[in-house]
Amino acid sequence: MALYLGIDIGSTTSKAVLLDQEKRIVRTAIRPTGVGSRSVAQDLKAEILREEAGAEPVRVVATGYGRALVDYADRTITEITCHGRGVRFLHPDAAMILDIGGQDSKVIRLDEAGRVEDFGMNDRCAAGTGSFLDVIARRFDLDLKTLADIHTLDPTPFEISSTCVVFAETEVVSLLSQGHDLNDILAGVQRAVARRVVTLVRHVGFTHPIYFSGGVAQNETIRREIQTALGVSMPRARYAQYTAALGAALLAGE
Ligand code: ADP
Repeated sequence: MALYLGIDIGSTTSKAVLLDQEKRIVRTAIRPTGVGSRSVAQDLKAEILREEAGAEPVRVVATGYGRALVDYADRTITEITCHGRGVRFLHPDAAMILDIGGQDSKVIRLDEAGRVEDFGMNDRCAAGTGSFLDVIARRFDLDLKTLADIHTLDPTPFEISSTCVVFAETEVVSLLSQGHDLNDILAGVQRAVARRVVTLVRHVGFTHPIYFSGGVAQNETIRREIQTALGVSMPRARYAQYTAALGAALLAGE
């Protein structure tokens, strides 16, 4: 059986998707990227092939910020192209993709044929990325799921004005010391992340249907906040954290 492998070495997590020749997902694998050494690429490959009895993929495509670390790849392709391919495969009606990962956020606009028409990216600062939420969660000893479950019925939770995560942390501590409720403040933090991202969506030129991918797509509070700001529903893409790896695997098979 012919197998095709897509590897996405992200800034925070590395993902792999193995496809068969019918474009069916055989298996997925994920692990922290860590310091970004070549071993993460090797370990991912070993993990995803462990039940394939010595089979080797016919072709491997690597993507993501650390794609050069995948020394067994036949080709490297940018994440933008791979996300586009992956999401369009899962959701043929997708016109736009919002991907929020560990250290960047991207907005990709697709044309009718599914080709990338335009995109925007924020990789300069933590605001509007997963690391903003990771820092705040760690500071208050919360896991990401607990943080994502915190929302408030208050339609106007605190506005966190700092876009820099270091200042935002100080702002949160200061609001707490003034006696405000932690849940309201953390809801405000998530609203601030959502607002940043919506600005990027509008900058690229909002079209819909829009799908949400990347690790942060698992955060329902962020998803709802963005939906409210855009005024349309924004479903989470299937295999949301794997869409670039899936796109890479599909391109490996083509
Ligand atoms: P990258 O490709 O840039 O490495 P990912 O798309 O894998 O990033 O996303 C990583 C981010 O996803 C983390 O920084 C974290 O904020 C977020 N994340 C991971 N798991 C969850 C979860 N269960 N709930 C909410 N957010 C999550």
